[in-house]
Amino acid sequence: MLQRTFCIIKPDAVERQLVGKILADIQAAGLKVVAMKMIHMTKEQAQGFYAVHKERPFFESLTEYMASGPVVCAVLEAENAITRYRELMGATNPAQAAEGTLRKKYAVSLEANAVHGSDAPETAAFEMSYFFNALEMVG
Ligand code: ADP
Ligand code: MG
Repeated sequence: MLQRTFCIIKPDAVERQLVGKILADIQAAGLKVVAMKMIHMTKEQAQGFYAVHKERPFFESLTEYMASGPVVCAVLEAENAITRYRELMGATNPAQAAEGTLRKKYAVSLEANAVHGSDAPETAAFEMSYFFNALEMVG
C-alpha cells in the first residue's frame, strides 16, 4: 500500500549540520520526499504537535527542546512508509537503537534523538496536516 508518513529532523540534528546526511539516508532507503520545509516552532506549536504526550513527565522539556531551534519537516511516500521509516529511525532511546539506524548514527540523547516519525496512519494524517496543506504536497 502506497502510504505517506511525517518526518521531522529535530533541532539537535539541524544544529549539527546533519540535514543532508539524514535526507540521503531517507532517500537511500527508498522513501520519496513529497513535501519539505524548515521552520522554527514556537513552544505553543510544539505543544500542539506533541499534544498526545501532554500528560507525560517529559512534555515540558520535550516541547522546550523542539522549539529551541529550526527543524526540517517532510512528508515521505513509499510502500508501507510508516513502518519502513520507523525501522530506519530506530528505537526512541539511541542507546537501544540498532546499528545503521538514524538514531544510532546521529542521536545524542533520549530527548535529542535526531528525528521524529509518525507511528500509525491516524497520527501521520494529523501530523502532515499540522504542518502542510494539500498544495504543499506534490504527486
Ligand atoms: P518516538 O519519537 O520514538 O515515537 P515517543 O513518541 O514515545 O517516541 O516520544 C516522543 C519524543 O519524546 C521522543 O522522540 C523523545 O524525543 C522524547 N522522549 C520520549 N521519552 C522520553 C523520556 N523518557 N525522557 C525524555 N524525552 C523523552
Ligand atoms: Mg511517537
